[in-house]
Amino acid sequence: LSGGRQAARKRPSMLSFDEIGGQERAKQELMEALEFLIRPDEIARFGIRPLKGILLTGPPGTGKTLLAKAAAHHTDSVFVAASGSEFVEMYVGVGASRIRDLFREARQKAQKTGKNSAVIFIDEIDVIGGRRDGGQHREYDQTLNQLLTEMDGIQTNESPRILLIAATNRKDTLDSALLRPGRFDRHIAVDLPDKKGRKHILSIHAAGKPLGKTADLDKVAEETFGFSGAQLESVLNEAAIYAMREESECIEMHHLTMAIDKVMMGEKTDREATK
Ligand code: ATP
Repeated sequence: LSGGRQAARKRPSMLSFDEIGGQERAKQELMEALEFLIRPDEIARFGIRPLKGILLTGPPGTGKTLLAKAAAHHTDSVFVAASGSEFVEMYVGVGASRIRDLFREARQKAQKTGKNSAVIFIDEIDVIGGRRDGGQHREYDQTLNQLLTEMDGIQTNESPRILLIAATNRKDTLDSALLRPGRFDRHIAVDLPDKKGRKHILSIHAAGKPLGKTADLDKVAEETFGFSGAQLESVLNEAAIYAMREESECIEMHHLTMAIDKVMMGEKTDREATK
């Protein structure tokens, strides 16, 4: 298979929890929460309030989107995704109708594929779910109200069942209406990985890359304190580019060291630019 065909075969929505490095606690908590989707009869027998929304909180690039995709895969659900910023429009009402479309799309996609459930993922939920402040952002209010209406309308016995997963790195700014019981009332922290997690993420992204004898991923994990999963993926990618430029057979330790510096410097200049 060519690279392109291979990428097409490995559909991103079919990602499994095994392909996510570290985040053991988040994975565990998420899988426990997903029981609600997998065992609806028991949930109903015990009279447990159905789970409608899970909020993933944590810094950028830590795998929140990956976790949402894996949740869809784990529960054999269709996956529909949007970002909060897509709902911000000049015209009043457009954001709200996009929310309606998103839920419709999820239901239709599930019906078409014969699945019993759908996971709707909304990244950057803070953009539409920020605290309401007396009518200053009327357009956002309508969008948020529509989201709340859709969530309240989710039925346990409907087919397909709908689960919302939202992500934010600014939980403190969210409107309390979103966090009420029956809405996003299950919160899972997705933090920066520890050394073991970093090693795991590095090995996932090193798979399929030619690593030389000197390449020591343990050492890379040690030297990348504070790096996110996305940054660790960049380290391996940059190291591969350095190796290729040098016409080296494999990725060696000095390529990795240069890559760590580059990703760290990139981070610094990004931060300085946003000061
Ligand atoms: P954002 O808040 O910026 O949307 P996010 O938390 O949703 O970020 P992802 O989109 O899930 O982050 O991750 C971005 C990329 O970083 C992934 O496609 C993957 O390559 C890499 N990555 C991040 N975390 C992990 C992880 N735990 N394991 C493996 N790869 C990871």
